Amino acid sequence: MSSPTSVPYVNIAALNEDIKAELLEAVSRVLDSGQFILGREVEVFEKQFAPLCGVRYAVGLNSGTDALIFALRALGVGVGDEVITVPNSFVASTSCIVLVGARPVFVDVREDYNIDTSLIEKAITPRTKAILPVHLTGRPADMAQILDVASRHGLWVVEDCAQAVLAEYQGQRVGSFGAAGCFSLHPLKTLNACGDGGVVTTNDEAVYEKVKLYRNLGLKTRDNCVIWSGNSRLDTLQAAILLVKLKHLHRWTEKRRFNAAYYQKALAGIPRVQVPLDQPHERAVYHTFVIQAGARDKLQQYLQDQGIGTAIHYPIPIHLQEAASNLGYRVGSFPVAETQAKRILSLPVYSELEQWQLEHVAEAVQRFSPRSER
Ligand SMILES: *Cc1c(COP(=O)(O)O)cnc(C)c1O
Repeated sequence: MSSPTSVPYVNIAALNEDIKAELLEAVSRVLDSGQFILGREVEVFEKQFAPLCGVRYAVGLNSGTDALIFALRALGVGVGDEVITVPNSFVASTSCIVLVGARPVFVDVREDYNIDTSLIEKAITPRTKAILPVHLTGRPADMAQILDVASRHGLWVVEDCAQAVLAEYQGQRVGSFGAAGCFSLHPLKTLNACGDGGVVTTNDEAVYEKVKLYRNLGLKTRDNCVIWSGNSRLDTLQAAILLVKLKHLHRWTEKRRFNAAYYQKALAGIPRVQVPLDQPHERAVYHTFVIQAGARDKLQQYLQDQGIGTAIHYPIPIHLQEAASNLGYRVGSFPVAETQAKRILSLPVYSELEQWQLEHVAEAVQRFSPRSER
């Protein structure tokens, strides 16, 4: 290879290159139409995205963060309320709670990085209004347990599906379990726009109507404003791009699952390297492929020296972020999430990886492992 990086951690350009003619045609069509705000492409995208998630309604927005904020707001979550979520996610799954005026209450996670459902009940108080599970890494959270606790305590469930489009739990797609599902279309997510984007999915017509108002300044018609809100529309250009990508999403997802299966097999049994495993009732889509190793930083450096890019999702648990300092948590509050933060490493798993690259990554991890006590 001429490039010093033989396996970059991500390669969005390669994904777009593969379908460039289709993308340019879609972009060109929108340019010619002169219509850039909402309009046909956004509607068609929403009409295709909803059934893909097994729900009646989808609303295109300008980010996954706004999807989370709007879902909570539409369900009436606000000042004085508490929302139970996890400390090991991207910060948006917590900031959305704070931004609607509510208080995030964390519970620790399991070995699969998702919420430990056995700890939820202990975190419920009279102020708890909702549970916000994250389908982290593209693996569905334990929805049967979550829905059971939620229904016994009269709580809303808002799913953070930002990493998990097409993931399934007991044969059902994520985004269809809770009162609302929230997706990100950020370039690094598995269904990605060429810029920011997000979606709320729901079966609840009232939630659907509210989120549509929230994304467009509370305007019911062009001239009638019924509630104060900002501007969070999905661009028509992005919707046109997403419609092209939707046609390839199943193929890309299968390839990532293939890559994950390759790693699972190749890395099984390596001493002190922990590989994610699939449960029979779930279909993970592997937004990230996260291994754990005691000597994580050394392993990351070793892989870097071999030209292999990796990433850490996420190095600082949310309860230990500076922004969270007034929430009353400290080091030791969530031992599983904190231990994982020191051990996790995301390997490249995107659909454009070639066989030699998969082999190169797996061999490098194998070579590193037995070298020293770690
Ligand atoms: C990316 C992400 C978000 C936020 O989505 P944006 O589109 O970047 O606003 C929220 N939650 C999780 C788990 C994410 O990975």
